[in-house]
Amino acid sequence: MTTTSARPGQRPLDDRLLSRISAGAYPGSAGPVTHHAPWDDAPIQELPGCTPDDVSEAVRRARAAQRGWAALPFKARAAVLLRFHDLLVERQDEVLDLMQWEVGKTRFSAWIEAFMVATTARHYARRGAAYLSDRSVRGFMPGLTQTVEIRVPKGVVGIISPWNFPLFLSVADAIPALLAGNGLVCKPDSQAPLTLLWARDLLLEAGLPEDLFQITVGSGRVVGTALVDSVDYLAFTGSTATGRILGARAGERLIGCSLELGGKNAMVVRADADLNRAVNGLVDAAFMNAGQMCVHVERAIIDDAIYDEFRQRLLDKVESLTVGQGFGWSADLGPLVSAKQLATVTDHVDDAVAKGARVLTGGRPAPEVGPFAYVPTVLEGVRPGMTAYAEETFGPVLSLHRSTSDEVALELANEGNYGLSASIYSRNITRAHELARQIRAGSVNLNDGYAAAIGSIEAPMGGMGDSGLGRRQGPEGIRKYTEAQTIARQRILPAGVPPLFTEEQFVKISNAQLRILRLLGVR
Ligand code: NAP
Repeated sequence: MTTTSARPGQRPLDDRLLSRISAGAYPGSAGPVTHHAPWDDAPIQELPGCTPDDVSEAVRRARAAQRGWAALPFKARAAVLLRFHDLLVERQDEVLDLMQWEVGKTRFSAWIEAFMVATTARHYARRGAAYLSDRSVRGFMPGLTQTVEIRVPKGVVGIISPWNFPLFLSVADAIPALLAGNGLVCKPDSQAPLTLLWARDLLLEAGLPEDLFQITVGSGRVVGTALVDSVDYLAFTGSTATGRILGARAGERLIGCSLELGGKNAMVVRADADLNRAVNGLVDAAFMNAGQMCVHVERAIIDDAIYDEFRQRLLDKVESLTVGQGFGWSADLGPLVSAKQLATVTDHVDDAVAKGARVLTGGRPAPEVGPFAYVPTVLEGVRPGMTAYAEETFGPVLSLHRSTSDEVALELANEGNYGLSASIYSRNITRAHELARQIRAGSVNLNDGYAAAIGSIEAPMGGMGDSGLGRRQGPEGIRKYTEAQTIARQRILPAGVPPLFTEEQFVKISNAQLRILRLLGVR
């Protein structure tokens, strides 16, 4: 492992954002909250924190602005999002600096966020109208009933997001919600509020009405709870534990919600895999964003016939990684985000080792890099009863498992209650497809670790089982922010017993119609 360490140096905060914060552009009367940089644990910036009343006021303002926004033609809303796309591409360095500073990620990981957000903006601005277009369907009485399904905005959408992809996991969800005609109130994770404040300012610059998109800063327990209690729909991304709490609360209020939660994702490497490609894919999928990525791979299930060779090539590659911090492109992975995250990762590894697992490489913090850095780690012999076996570690820790057949590999891959993402490496694409259909996961990548699916913006992304409810991306990623409304027009005759007919005659005719339509193969 190579290490690089650098102090943040200059604070990457532009004056405009700072002056807007100090001029009270963001609601908050609960007193200042401060977050700390993962690079040196030093305070970043005081921000106004919100009370539940502030959240209600933010929702009220977003609701008032939403009516005018929803009344605009889709094209006008799309024009704002396309301008945002262009501004983001042009000014991306500002937000890459901010993200690196707030959550300690590598510059490449930060760039991926900006790239995905721009892609999302362009995609929904161009395809959103088609996804939401009116749909004529056959009516109750053919020829006499004209029926159309339309999509109406939910009203005000609440978004609660995590820290690990602070731009992508808030703004990429906000974009389709806005394009569908909703107002928005977001609660960023307390570790990364500035990134979202910056993005909102850029949206205002692109032409978004001032009150439409509100940001409320503060703890999940206070601000997140107040939010789910007052919005018309909740899009949550975070841990399964929090998802259960918020899902139950949304259920009590009878509002819809999407829950994008944790995972314990597996990669299956078959004996016929291209080993170099599989090793590179696994290292990327296990250690991208220091393993703090919902779709990252924590378990590799490798065919016995290639296990030893694969393990050696994998260890050579992992040991060549650079752990570092600071602006710039040199590090392969950065530190963990906080002392809490470091404690979780350390506990998982120590528990596994105490119960008999072997550390093949890594297995320790890296204080020589920074206070929260951890060495990329590969374990062998992780078994049921160890915390790292079934619980999400969410750090740079990978465990290796042997399989003796596709059936064994499938059984291992499907273990546990999560079902977020999976990966299969094989030269036999037909067989890989067959196996993919038997894996219980919202997305399965063939000959890729995770990016092929999540990068496919037209396809839905989300989890099965404990990994969540609902989907982002693709048609479902925007339709979820709307209600379906059916408008049916009855022409000439009433939708029921026509004049001059008795109920008995009507029933006879209708029954004959059922038989005829069945014979004709209609509906
Ligand atoms: P977390 O603790 O659930 O926090 C996520 C967000 O929820 C934060 O904004 C947090 O606010 C808020 N929150 C926490 N407790 C809350 C409560 N009782 N009521 C309302 N809001 C509450 O998640 P995390 O551990 O920081 O994030 C990592 C997790 O997210 C991992 O499990 C990861 O797999 C998952 N994740 C899933 C996806 C996906 O797409 N499936 C993507 C990324 C991450 P504060 O922190 O400010 O209090």
